Amino acid sequence: MSEKKGRVFSGARPTGRQHLGNYLGAIQNYVALQDEYECVYCIVDIHALTTMETTVGLRQNTFEMALDWLAAGIRPEDSIIFIQSYVPEVTELHTYLSMVTPLGKLTDLPTFKDKIRQHPNNVNYGLVGYPVLMSADIVLYKAGLVPVGVDQAPHIEFTRETVRSFNYRYQADVLIEPQMKVTQVPKVIGIDGQQKMSKSLDNHIEIAATPEETRKRIMMMVTDPQRIRRTDPGDPDVCNVFSMHKIFSSKEEVDQIDVECRRAGIGCVDCKKMLAKNMNDYFVPFRERRADFEKKPDQVWEILDDGAKRARVIAQATMEEVRAAIGIR
Ligand code: SF4
Repeated sequence: MSEKKGRVFSGARPTGRQHLGNYLGAIQNYVALQDEYECVYCIVDIHALTTMETTVGLRQNTFEMALDWLAAGIRPEDSIIFIQSYVPEVTELHTYLSMVTPLGKLTDLPTFKDKIRQHPNNVNYGLVGYPVLMSADIVLYKAGLVPVGVDQAPHIEFTRETVRSFNYRYQADVLIEPQMKVTQVPKVIGIDGQQKMSKSLDNHIEIAATPEETRKRIMMMVTDPQRIRRTDPGDPDVCNVFSMHKIFSSKEEVDQIDVECRRAGIGCVDCKKMLAKNMNDYFVPFRERRADFEKKPDQVWEILDDGAKRARVIAQATMEEVRAAIGIR
């Protein structure tokens, strides 16, 4: 680990079985970063509580997400993979950081206003402070880099400002300002062909779905809306099935569909069957690894426990410095 370029932190809420959008937008990147960086990947269950009215299913969702991460190739022998609440130091740091965060800054954040719209009956204190908790997640582990899409940039800037406020208030250079590692996150459109893939919209395809489930979801995909009859020429450039082919099919197949679709040489049903086959082939190794982990749930919980122990060593060292800087211990 010492030869690596630096430490990366990323967290994601426990949303259960992951879909293609999660995989292509984040998990693939998590796996790739391990080769160059010391990676700390966290399932942020405390964050999930800010918008949940019941915790039924929370533990199972955490487990399912860990299964997907591990099966996708996150290597616990190289990276730290753990559950946020297993390292309670994060809540202590959250409290200290909250003392240097103006309330107006939190309530002015566009993301807070979005959350109010989404959860009008559950605007709780934790929801207001969640960017502070997010900052605590990053700085507790002294992560120099956070992989984000460009739309996430304001969150990292918030963390950087919080770190500056803390270091200035206590005249100590204790916390590290993280840098963004901007990744090109593809916008994965759901099977409705319109909106970003999301579980809540039920327009998703789970990466752990069976081949038959995957095929059924693909057959439901909306294609070029102007192509009504089999004999109508289509436009692959406006078709989400074609976008998926570009990810899961060979260049020859993509080129062939590009030509044949435009002259009605291929029907949408055959085009989708081809995609289903290629997508299922792509996920064979992932699904085999996932099935193996699924048979050994104790091993998965041990990996998460072990990750928390390793994360806690870093967290406790940071908190020693933080308390000393504040002057409370
Ligand atoms: Fe889309 Fe394929 Fe149908 Fe063309 S043939 S409209 S690319 S599904």
